[in-house]
Amino acid sequence: MTARILDGASLARILRERVRTEAAGVGPPPPSLRVILVGEDPASVAYVSAKTRAAQEAGCLAETIRLPASTTPQRLLDEVDRANRDASVDGILVQLPLPPGHDARRVFDALDPQKDVDGLHPENVGRLVQGRPRFVPCTAAGILALLDAYEIPLAGANAAVLGRSEIVGKPVAALLTSRDATVTLCHSRTRDLAAACRRAGILIVAIGKPAFVTADFVGEGAAVVDVGVNRLSDLSEAPPRLRESPRLADALARRGQALVGDVDFESVSALAAWITPVPGGVGPLTIAMLLRNTVAAARLRREKPTPTSH
Ligand code: NAP
Repeated sequence: MTARILDGASLARILRERVRTEAAGVGPPPPSLRVILVGEDPASVAYVSAKTRAAQEAGCLAETIRLPASTTPQRLLDEVDRANRDASVDGILVQLPLPPGHDARRVFDALDPQKDVDGLHPENVGRLVQGRPRFVPCTAAGILALLDAYEIPLAGANAAVLGRSEIVGKPVAALLTSRDATVTLCHSRTRDLAAACRRAGILIVAIGKPAFVTADFVGEGAAVVDVGVNRLSDLSEAPPRLRESPRLADALARRGQALVGDVDFESVSALAAWITPVPGGVGPLTIAMLLRNTVAAARLRREKPTPTSH
């Protein structure tokens, strides 16, 4: 079997166009997004500029507050509070990961849940788990949108989620459960990890380890979603089986760095029915879902209370 591609980049273009139409129906003023970025991590800087550019292209207002890596936890909380109180801001996104010394959970707690477009405030997490979501974390929402677009049946399917982060693994497991899949949530303490993954008809991988998932982890005919984004700048950073890859050598030679997923694309695509590429799989959908959540936040905040009839 040679896997067919789950083309996140093409789906994201369609979804972004749809968001543009929806955004035009809100306001004036248009929906607005405030991104807070702490530090200079090059990957985070690139993600933030892609997100704000995409928001502007969708007809939203978007601005980034850049704080130095030396920012204290209290200063960051003050900035979140300022955005919470600012009536011109519909959606707030604090770019993760935060530099060492910050506790991301204190930041989630501080967000106004009605502006929390990344869906990480405990109220939004609780609503998701109860099956009545307000804002779904963007990457998890993007994964579900991709499976739905390719009509991969979820109800009754065995799904394995590898990685239990707050931003990907846990919310995607909650969403799949709400859609009647039987979910195994795997992590670093899971016994016989490969066997747990192999039983799944749907395998979602988000661990941050280049090409960790090989054919041994994948059942024939599975749909495999690779969330991992690992930046390599040298062949020596790649696991041995990837060092032979002409694609990797070529990317390193041309750009000085390469993006590699958590799934060994070559071996897994020989066995799976569906697979996401990296890049061009889940990443673009994360951005599309952020835009969708921003428009939803704007609508929510501007909704007039419906008059009660007595
Ligand atoms: P994370 O916070 O880095 O956590 C990693 C998870 O993987 C943890 O639950 C950990 O288990 C598990 N894990 C690590 N090594 C493992 C191993 N050897 N065996 C089994 N489980 C293992 O996760 P994340 O923030 O979700 O990020 C994961 C990857 O997704 C990263 O590459 C990140 O860049 C990427 N990502 C991509 C997007 C996108 O839009 N494409 C968005 C977000 C993240 P424990 O809990 O037991 O430690």
